[in-house]
Amino acid sequence: MIKIKTREEIELMRESALVVSRTLGMLAKEVKPGVSTLYLDKLAEEFIREQGAIPGFLGLYDFPNTLCMSPNSQVVHGIPNKKPLIEGDIISIDCGALKNGFYGDHAYTFAIGEIDLEVQKLLDVTKESLYVGIREFKAGNRVGDVGFAIQDFTEKHGYGVVRELVGHGLGREMHEDPEMPNYGKRGRGKKFVEGMVVAIEPMTNLGTHKIRQHSDGWTITTFDNKPSAHFEHDVAIVNGKPELLSTFKYVNESLGIVTDIEDEFRQ
Ligand code: MG
Ligand code: MG
Repeated sequence: MIKIKTREEIELMRESALVVSRTLGMLAKEVKPGVSTLYLDKLAEEFIREQGAIPGFLGLYDFPNTLCMSPNSQVVHGIPNKKPLIEGDIISIDCGALKNGFYGDHAYTFAIGEIDLEVQKLLDVTKESLYVGIREFKAGNRVGDVGFAIQDFTEKHGYGVVRELVGHGLGREMHEDPEMPNYGKRGRGKKFVEGMVVAIEPMTNLGTHKIRQHSDGWTITTFDNKPSAHFEHDVAIVNGKPELLSTFKYVNESLGIVTDIEDEFRQ
């Protein structure tokens, strides 16, 4: 059942999303060669708690950490460890926070130093596909419209769209209805209405869309071990239009990226 949010609840959810946005912005300055994902995880946990929030993933379905840290061929759900990141790696950082009873949940894939041009393009296209999807999240459209838009855009670049993992409704639960696949057909699936809040999160592989699960029960990697990227935003429908609750503004400030792409999704 889809749980519709009031304007007041959406503003509380914006605060939860911004806890995550600020955390990703803080991490953007710390993500560099020689740093371990476990160290970054501890920084994030402290930073989330300083903002009066609780790490959203810690203990959720028994996940052991604050961040899902998925380097290179890991798609999502990687567990932080002591291995240092090295120049040329990419790292998907997925972060959740719980504040005022509502979850924020969003993700960014960072480059560690200089990376291959083809991998940088994968990151750029995946990030852009997120906004292509968000644009379709409006009253009257359906789940399939978002999925189709992301899939069509992504596959035109020759990349694989992961099927087994999807975006989701968001609220007092981390995962609410509806499921939000990054593939689909126009005009299919549940209809979007005012007050819906979802996490849209394309997971895009440089090679095959196929994945495999590791024996730790968490880590998902690409089947061909080629790199995978992941970007995620929290979005509400306000006045019939997509309203971004999370933001990459803090990440962009940390990385010196200048863009106005999010302006389209602010009222
Ligand atoms: Mg997430
Ligand atoms: Mg999510």
